Amino acid sequence: MKESLILKGLRNIMLDRLKERGISDVNVLNAMAKVPRHIFISKGFEVQAYEDKPFSIAGGQTISQPFTVAIQTELLQLQKFDRVLEIGTGSGYQAVILAEMGANVYTIERLKELYLGAQRIFRQLGYSINSCWGDGYEGKEIYAPFKKILITAAIPQIPQRLLDQLDTGGRLVAPVGDGNTQIMPIIDKISGNDYVTSHCNIPFKFVPMLRDKKSI
Ligand code: SAH
Repeated sequence: MKESLILKGLRNIMLDRLKERGISDVNVLNAMAKVPRHIFISKGFEVQAYEDKPFSIAGGQTISQPFTVAIQTELLQLQKFDRVLEIGTGSGYQAVILAEMGANVYTIERLKELYLGAQRIFRQLGYSINSCWGDGYEGKEIYAPFKKILITAAIPQIPQRLLDQLDTGGRLVAPVGDGNTQIMPIIDKISGNDYVTSHCNIPFKFVPMLRDKKSI
């Protein structure tokens, strides 16, 4: 797909800002340099797509700001071919970043409209991503275990059901807290029921993770 030099230029500026804010993982930066973020945002807002701000998408949801996508992805310590479960597909941007980095991506979205929209973009951009319409609180048992689980909506606490779907040696990253701000625990599964938790000391503000899927 051809795109203008202006959009490439805006993307480079976005990359410079991410580096200034401390993102250093070359694989994350390369993926974000390649994926056309404006495709995930309504037409006419191409410039805003590359600002370091969240942006409204359908269903009253938001695409996370580039810095949040970068830091969550960096925290995952993704390896090529890792089986990753993302909860909260939203626009599909985060899922495509993971796929661009060589992960085997499964993603769940509660709102049908967003699930269908993201599927269209995955096809348009040529990414093979397993997307599901469902309730992320359930995870995706049939495809478990996952090497990485990434939650991109604010969750009050991590359900055991999701930890059970994490592979030994795997890692879960999630914004945990109420509707106002969340912290970002990084949970490593050492063995069957043995976890080590560390923290990223930045407060975040995600939309809430709600119960049950919804057909809008
Ligand atoms: N990762 C997205 C942004 C996520 S916004 C992106 O790259 O654009 C959070 C998303 O989580 C919203 O789309 C919201 O509808 C979805 N969501 C909220 N509760 C959910 C649940 N229980 N299961 C699955 N998705 C959920």
